Amino acid sequence: DLILFWHRRDLRICDNVGLAAARQHSTRVVGVFCLDPGILKGDDVAAVRVTYMMGSLQALAENYAQVGSQLLVLQGSPAQQIPALAQTLQAQAVFWNKDVEPYARDRDRTVADALKQAGIEVQAFWDQLLHAPREILTGTGAPYTVFTPFWRNWRSRGKSAPAPNLESAEGLTEAEQDQAKQTGCIPLPSAKDLGFGWDNELPLLPGTQAAHDRLEEFCDQSIDEYRERRNFPSVRGTSQLSAALKFGTIGIRSVWAATEMALSECRSDEARDNIHTWQQELCWREFYQHAMYCFPELAEGAYRDPMKDFPFINNPEHFQAWCDGQTGYPIVDAAMRQMNQIGWMHNRCRMIVASFLTKDLITDYRLGEKYFAQRLIDWDLSANNGGWQWSASSGMDPKPLRIFNPASQAQKFDPEGEYIREWVPELRSLDTEQLVTGKISQEERDRCNYPVPIVDHKQQQNRFKDLYQQQKTK
Ligand code: FAD
Repeated sequence: DLILFWHRRDLRICDNVGLAAARQHSTRVVGVFCLDPGILKGDDVAAVRVTYMMGSLQALAENYAQVGSQLLVLQGSPAQQIPALAQTLQAQAVFWNKDVEPYARDRDRTVADALKQAGIEVQAFWDQLLHAPREILTGTGAPYTVFTPFWRNWRSRGKSAPAPNLESAEGLTEAEQDQAKQTGCIPLPSAKDLGFGWDNELPLLPGTQAAHDRLEEFCDQSIDEYRERRNFPSVRGTSQLSAALKFGTIGIRSVWAATEMALSECRSDEARDNIHTWQQELCWREFYQHAMYCFPELAEGAYRDPMKDFPFINNPEHFQAWCDGQTGYPIVDAAMRQMNQIGWMHNRCRMIVASFLTKDLITDYRLGEKYFAQRLIDWDLSANNGGWQWSASSGMDPKPLRIFNPASQAQKFDPEGEYIREWVPELRSLDTEQLVTGKISQEERDRCNYPVPIVDHKQQQNRFKDLYQQQKTK
């Protein structure tokens, strides 16, 4: 009996919980991916991300071919396309892995209803997390809204081993392949065919092999110094696995197993602490996904009271200058230009620019949240929303007000100005002191063709605090 396995953000055949279950049920397992205009025609899509996704689908199709089966590609609304294909091929069942995002959950309900009505079985699994939402609850059975106790609980739980890889499967006969074509299956298009041109090199390479190679390299070279090096944007001290984790080109259980292996091999307490710190980042990822699942209203707006209906200033020129990396604050501009040019930004810089937009420009964080979606290779609704709400002091964060000073951030985390010099080339000739403090004279700014600061940090900080106080006492 044929089982269709519907891939979404799990673009791999190894360590894939739902796919392994499908193979256990049947020797005939065929993959399917649906190019959904509900996602691809939105105004929050980045060419770099679609390019990564299409490259990963290409690799996935090759992996299916290697084990004797196929990856089918559909284009259109999954609610129509998936049941139609399953019916044409007389599939016994459609399997998939569950998602936490509101759009995906609605979509899956609709598809599942249509399949069941057609008499086709549906099975859905948790795959993208080490612990499913609602598995980690407080003593009173409620979802956590604070990270640290979540982390303590989460890390104390046993973690599953990687799921069995798909080693072999029977695919469609030629006649069935013709039928699939008639029901709308198409050859895999490129990102360009879909209207997303990305001519630069990708900052993170697509496909499962690249993700595994990167994980191995990170575990060999950087994980045991992660805590020290992760804060410096000019250093390659983080894993750069975010796109792989977003699209599931690597399984989270395999990632966890690699960290456990690194722990078992490490020789000092210090190295062990560094590895634990990285494990904690994986836990942040799960924390935000659990939060999105349990509190889907997070996707709409501020979670915390003082920031609901906040009187943002939302100056469109300031917002544009922020987007373009033309604020006159070198560290902010370096970070925005890094994202605009390569489609990825270092975490320290994501925090700096998010604080700058929300606290210095007093702009609604949702504008920045969306701009990130339009630019990042690794954009993920839950992580991005969590990061923005944290920076905007509107999220699940017990510390109420967080305002980053761009100059002190640059002095601490880019002390030699290397990152700024890389991304703001017109300032390369200046002294490091000027770069990191941002104390650059008007004449020098003119000479370098670099803008004057669009706002004054101190003034805006006070202005924000006043507005925040007023909101609190309202
Ligand atoms: P590493 O430091 O190697 O971390 C390993 C993995 O842990 C990451 O790949 C990611 O999956 C996860 N992770 C790390 N930090 C966080 C975090 N704070 N929250 C959730 N997961 C985390 N991450 C995204 O994956 N997609 C986003 O759209 C995104 N938007 C962000 C927006 C803002 C404003 C902020 C402050 C952070 C955002 N992050 C986002 C989190 C973080 O910046 C990135 O995950 C990280 O920079 C990716 O690089 P890395 O893979 O080298 O991370």
